[in-house]
Amino acid sequence: MGEKPLIEIRDIIKNYKDGEATVEVLKGSSFTVNKGEIIAVLGPSGSGKTTLLNILGGIDCPDEGEVIFDGNLLSWDYKSLVEYRKNNVGFVFQQYALVSDLSVYQNVEIVRRLVSSPITTESMLESVGMLHKRKSMPWQLSGGEQQRVALARALIKKPALLLCDEPTGALDASSGAKIMSLISDLARKIKQTAIIVTHDIAVCRIADRIFRLEDGILTEQAK
Ligand code: ADP
Ligand code: MG
Repeated sequence: MGEKPLIEIRDIIKNYKDGEATVEVLKGSSFTVNKGEIIAVLGPSGSGKTTLLNILGGIDCPDEGEVIFDGNLLSWDYKSLVEYRKNNVGFVFQQYALVSDLSVYQNVEIVRRLVSSPITTESMLESVGMLHKRKSMPWQLSGGEQQRVALARALIKKPALLLCDEPTGALDASSGAKIMSLISDLARKIKQTAIIVTHDIAVCRIADRIFRLEDGILTEQAK
């Protein structure tokens, strides 16, 4: 018997109501992610990638099925979810989502204070190559630079789980490739468990395991 998985989903079903119609997004998806693994989930636009990531991150809840984190069933009451997100999850979004009237330094520092992280904001910014721009405002940065700051903000928590939703989706090919390598290099160095959902097949190079999300079902694909 190995270590228990970090996170596991079992038979997740998620539907959305669209007027009279019901959109079936996840139709019984299951997978298990071990500690330290980098997992890629590939799927076309509209296939349910964000929905899946939001369920893993405790932002949305499934209609049926189970999410088990570190051996414990996630309960879907508001307070537990807030604690779960705050203590365990770091998110990186396609659109960076930096606070526009805070500097690079302040964007990371507010999260560090929230979780009283042992990592300093300076060293975190250094590791994503953004310390020299700590005084800049988000609008003064390129997309790739903003995504570096967003990555620093997610990792300063030392989250058990790093969740990336199309992290290269708003970037040109070259900046996108650099962000993918940075995520992979940092994650390997600190044995960070990461789940990256994307339609960018460049993710295949950095992932330990690859899943496809199609017609609401997750299927592992050979590397
Ligand atoms: P992806 O991230 O792969 O593009 P999403 O998870 O965002 O896919 O969406 C999957 C499907 O669910 C889409 O058809 C989308 O329109 C629908 N959907 C997502 N969120 C909602 C919502 N809050 N209400 C209704 N439909 C939604
Ligand atoms: Mg999406």
